Amino acid sequence: MTAAGPEARSGMDAAPAERLDRFMGRANAAYYATHDPFADFTTAPEIAQAFGEILGLWAAVTWDLLGRPDPVLLVEAGPGRGTLLADALRAIGQVAPGFAGALSVHLIETSPRLRAAQAAALPAGWAARATWHDDLARVPEAPLLLLANEFLDALPIRQFLRDDAGWTERHVADGAFVTRPAPVEEIPLGEIPTGEIIEVCEAAHAFVGALAARLARHPGAALLLDYGPATPATGDSLQALRAGRPADPLAAPGEADLTAHVDFLALANRARAAGAAVHGPLAQGVLLTRLGLFQRTDRLARGQPPARAAGLIAAARRLAEPHRMGRLFKALALCHPDCPTPPGFEP
Ligand code: SAH
Repeated sequence: MTAAGPEARSGMDAAPAERLDRFMGRANAAYYATHDPFADFTTAPEIAQAFGEILGLWAAVTWDLLGRPDPVLLVEAGPGRGTLLADALRAIGQVAPGFAGALSVHLIETSPRLRAAQAAALPAGWAARATWHDDLARVPEAPLLLLANEFLDALPIRQFLRDDAGWTERHVADGAFVTRPAPVEEIPLGEIPTGEIIEVCEAAHAFVGALAARLARHPGAALLLDYGPATPATGDSLQALRAGRPADPLAAPGEADLTAHVDFLALANRARAAGAAVHGPLAQGVLLTRLGLFQRTDRLARGQPPARAAGLIAAARRLAEPHRMGRLFKALALCHPDCPTPPGFEP
């Protein structure tokens, strides 16, 4: 995390400038519509099939804790290539036939290109029964289990800057940051040191607020996994990956994947305020280990050639070890207020 760099020019020049969240939203929509993001980065479900399998079983066990609502929606937000959902549905079909029989599949995805990849990835029979939506508001009102991995980090952020003169907001002009006076009523609350940046993801707040309100109205639960701190944080976390390498986030909109840290504490507060019970955030490595990542991986590795078995175990360790993805990534569960503690979140 870094404070504003010297590239932040003062704000009174005449260049047409776009607010950072609008720039990021536009850039990512173009990027996801035209690129295979997985050429540029990888994600947990692409690293290990056990990831999607155990999240599918998390949904099945939580459905049971909720009193087995039937019908029920299995929703994924930002499903990427569809790998997580495919692995989840296969595991659910084998281990939880009651849940498999009760559920209908709903995918929240805006990219037509990725929708096609998701349809192709789903196990036989499921794609014909799946429904795609542009946003959560279009998903039918019903009991639901929702999974989202690395969805919130792709949503556009605003950056507010506190300096000696007061608050400004970062905009983008000609591939560089410029600052503009921040609208007074939109300045984030809290004491921020001079020279610091604070990030606000309004789209993530809106998503979590609407999701939590649904979970207060219906039996259901959601598991959100992403990267970001579990403590209050300041600083610029915007990053870009282009052709697999870190890149300047402002240089080539639509050519790079833009993400930012997810503010789990703010989202947990938002979910509570909207009426959901909140569990976590918990380090991803802790959750996956409690849910049996390594037992499942051992099962998959059994009888495989040694190199393949070692690869499976290395992949599981990459997801769970603290110095790799196990600690930076967090898991947050949002539940209907009457739902017992979901699996893996026991104190
Ligand atoms: N969950 C997947 C993919 C993560 S990439 C995985 O773990 O591999 C982010 C995903 O969110 C992509 O599918 C992208 O198209 C989708 N996405 C990004 N912004 C979105 C938005 N505003 N509405 C719906 N989907 C979005």
